[in-house]
Amino acid sequence: MYKDLEGKVAVVTGASKGIGKAIAIRLAQEHMKLVFNYHSDQNGAQMAVDQIKENGGDAVAVQADVSKEDDVNKLVKTAVDNFGQLDLFVNNAGMEKESPTHKLSLQDWKKVIDVNLTGTFLGTKAALNYFLDHKREGNIINMSSVHQKISWPHFADYSASKGGSMLLTETVAKEYANKGIRVNSIAPGAINTPINAEKFADPKTYAETAELVPMARIGKPEEVAAAAAWLASTESSYVTGETIYVDGGMQLYPEFANGRG
Ligand code: NAD
Repeated sequence: MYKDLEGKVAVVTGASKGIGKAIAIRLAQEHMKLVFNYHSDQNGAQMAVDQIKENGGDAVAVQADVSKEDDVNKLVKTAVDNFGQLDLFVNNAGMEKESPTHKLSLQDWKKVIDVNLTGTFLGTKAALNYFLDHKREGNIINMSSVHQKISWPHFADYSASKGGSMLLTETVAKEYANKGIRVNSIAPGAINTPINAEKFADPKTYAETAELVPMARIGKPEEVAAAAAWLASTESSYVTGETIYVDGGMQLYPEFANGRG
């Protein structure tokens, strides 16, 4: 538990399921007040909000498309209108479209870049404006991926969006460090969430993916949420522009295990 998080206010995008939901629930357990953004799954977001309220917490669900600036600004406004302030903005919403690059449609490319990279920029911009206008020290966490570093054939859209997100994080961290605003990334490896539930339900695919992980298993959303809670807290007060890999060692070139190479 991080005592300093008590009473602080967070927005988490894409929080109706998967990693976003796990982060929002973990932050609520830390006694933060939560704005749960959802895109289309109102039911999922509302169920999580109800669960938090039953446990004595405070949360509100808000529809918004993170690729639209007005929608993202609405998330900050909701935090302020409901809870009086904003302390943390988690840019978690994300998507992927699989295709050989020579067949990837411009439409799909733009969609993934719009949600993953532009969405992260818009969330970052909205949070920065609030922190600067109110002279508040603030905190931004961007959900990247091991694919900010590991190139991923058939997912050029996704890899490019996460590589861009990494440099966005580092740039903004450097630009606003002297205002007391911290910006960090989390780069999950293979985590069992709805984005890949079908894939990991098949034992053969699970085993193939686990082979890419030195720890030989797929991660849980709660393990990513634990990193987010630490980055949100003052326990990480001297950390900015950093990426925490939550990947069981996936980005360590597992083929070189056992002295191969
Ligand atoms: P998920 O599909 O379970 O959740 C993604 C969330 O983003 C959903 O709630 C979805 O509704 C939301 N979303 C999509 N488009 C949106 C939009 N335009 N506006 C608002 N919300 C939108 O996936 P997840 O695995 O929980 O992924 C969460 C984040 O973690 C993503 O950024 C993803 O790239 C990243 N990530 C996931 C893994 C993994 O293995 N699961 C690995 C690395 C990185």
